[in-house]
Formats: sequence, C-alpha cells, structure tokens
Amino acid sequence: MFNALVVEKNDDGKTSASVQQIGEDRLPEGDVTVAVEYSTVNYKDGLCIGPGGGLVRNYPHVPGIDFAGTVETSDDPRYKAGDKVVLTGWRVGEAYWGGYSQKARVKADWLVPLPDGLDTKQAMAVGTAGFTAMLAVMALEDHGIKDGPVLVTGAAGGVGSVATAILASLGHEVAGVTGRPETADYLKSLGATQIVAREELNETTKRPLEAETWGGCVDAVGGEMLARVLGQMKYGASVAAVGLAGGAGLPATVIPFLLRGVNLLGIDSVMQPYDNRLRAWERIAKDLPMDKLDAMVQPAVLSDLPALGRDILKGQVRGRVVVDVNA
Ligand code: NDP
Repeated sequence: MFNALVVEKNDDGKTSASVQQIGEDRLPEGDVTVAVEYSTVNYKDGLCIGPGGGLVRNYPHVPGIDFAGTVETSDDPRYKAGDKVVLTGWRVGEAYWGGYSQKARVKADWLVPLPDGLDTKQAMAVGTAGFTAMLAVMALEDHGIKDGPVLVTGAAGGVGSVATAILASLGHEVAGVTGRPETADYLKSLGATQIVAREELNETTKRPLEAETWGGCVDAVGGEMLARVLGQMKYGASVAAVGLAGGAGLPATVIPFLLRGVNLLGIDSVMQPYDNRLRAWERIAKDLPMDKLDAMVQPAVLSDLPALGRDILKGQVRGRVVVDVNA
C-alpha cells in the first residue's frame, strides 16, 4: 500500500481531494513503475485538484503533472531498477494518474533520465514550470535575442521565476513584470534588474506600436498584457508565449508583425519529443544557478495540496512549490 492524493467526483457532481492509501493493483498500465520522491504544484495541477476544467478524463484521479523519483521495476530496456528519472508532460496528471503519489506507473517514452548535476528534489524545484521556461529561452535564442532588456511577465510565478534566473545567468538584462510589488526584492535576487508594475502593462492603449523597448519576452500571462507587449518589442524580436494566467483572449492587431517583424512563438511543454526534453534538461543543469533555485522553493506535503491548488489558481503562489510525497 502507498499514499496518494485521490480526487473523487461526488454524487452532486463536485470533486473532493484527500490523501488515501491505495494498492499497487490500482496503478494504471505502463512499462515503468517509479518510486516517486518529489512532485510540484503547477497551474494545471490547481485545475486538476479542483473541478478539472475538462483536463481530467476519469475519476477517481491522482493529479500531479510532473514527478522525479527512482525506477522500481521496468519492462523497457532503456530503464533499470535504481535509475533516477524525471517526467513532465504527456498529459500525466491530467488524462493519466500523476505524481501526487508515492508510486507511479507510466510509459517509458514519457520519462527522461535525470541529467548529471541535478538531484530529484532540484529537478522538481524546476518542474514543468521551469522546464517550460527553459524551452521558452531556447526558442528565443533560436530566433535571436535582440539588445535591450528581456521582459518576463508573471515574473513572481513558477515559469516567470525560473525564466528570470536563467536569462540573468546567461547575461541578459531582465525586466520582471509583477502585480505583487512585495516580490521586487525576490525578483532582484533572481537577477532581475528592472521591475515593471503589472498595471503599467494592463492599461489598454489605442496605439498598436509604442517605443521599441524589449529585446525578447517570456510571457506567462497572455491576454491584454501580451497584446500590449507585442507593440513594445524591438524590431525582429520574439515573444515566447507560454501561458494564459491573465486570460486566453488576444486583443492585438497585426501591426507589430507587419511593421516590426515581431515573432510570436508558441511554447508547448506537453508533447515535446524525447531529444528536445533531454536537451532542455541538460541546459537546465548547466545554466540554472542552483542557489537561485533554492530561493524559489517552498516545501509541501500531500495533505497541503488542496489548499495550494486553490492558491495557484488565484495567482498567489510565489516561485515553485516542491511536494515531498514521502513526508
Ligand atoms: P503561476 O501561478 O506560478 O504564475 C503565474 C503568474 O502570473 C502569477 O504568479 C502572477 O505573477 C501572474 N498573474 C496571475 N494572474 C494574473 C492576471 N490576471 N494578470 C496578470 N498577471 C497575472 O503559474 P505558472 O508560472 O506555473 O504558469 C503560468 C502560465 O503558464 C499558466 O497559464 C500555465 O497554465 C502556463 N503553463 C504553460 C505551459 C506550456 O507548456 N505552455 C507549461 C507550464 C505552465 P505576478 O504576481 O508576478 O504578477
């Protein structure tokens, strides 16, 4: 028997989440069984712990869109007992049982061996949010980061915190947009040199183009803020669009694309092929300073998750939450 956070659908159609002891016979099919050590709290986890929002296929459900741990048994020659592995994406924790559990069974294709230089706790301090931040930085690099500050929106959140730390450690000037002025010192400790108040970019303007300001952007917010930022990008600069914490609509014009050659790059962490995932994790181990990672982390245990799921949907979580599933 092992512990897991199980979300059930009640007779009234509402969901409830509780830590339960379950047997291995209830694990889904898969090639590799992993003794999970750590998982994390991401925005999607908030949705899956709560009503699901269409992400969860079947109840009862074990959320947790990422985890790191040690292989216990494997039917796949690529993995053997004792190997350290990390998983993000592939709809684990949404359509399939995820990492809020002391054991997980998954397809071997969804795993990545833990890169040298990262332990399982550090890997989950990064987690899906940090992995996505790295993919965003790599996409900006592929298209060329221009001179001038790189803007990070939703900077005090999970994606934003890791993106800020990576970009700063690569030598870029970073401007962090936050709606929480009290996080300014935290963002500066991660390497941001400029703090932009959320209200400055939430104000709508009729002007489709403004002063060319940003050499690149990692955007976790979307909505009106993304529309505004597009008109402030330098000529030929790129925005890596990661999330929609501020809304799914995009009330923009085509002018920044036509007159400034701005690139809007969509980032999807879920269906990344194995080689890309490996490359991103190796870059994380190399380019993300571990002392900055420590500053982002708050610890949690399985029983904290229902409250944390609500907090992250309200934009109230700072940095990264690492869940020790065995505590
Ligand atoms: P967090 O909740 O940790 O961070 C989001 C941040 O956005 C908040 O901390 C807050 O930052 C800001 N924010 C929240 N609400 C608003 C609002 N209404 N207007 C403006 N800013 C707001 O989430 P994550 O960093 O984990 O994820 C961010 C987004 O990225 C989510 O939409 C998530 O679903 C998406 N995502 C996408 C992935 C992909 O593969 N494309 C992978 C991972 C995440 P502050 O307080 O500093 O303003």
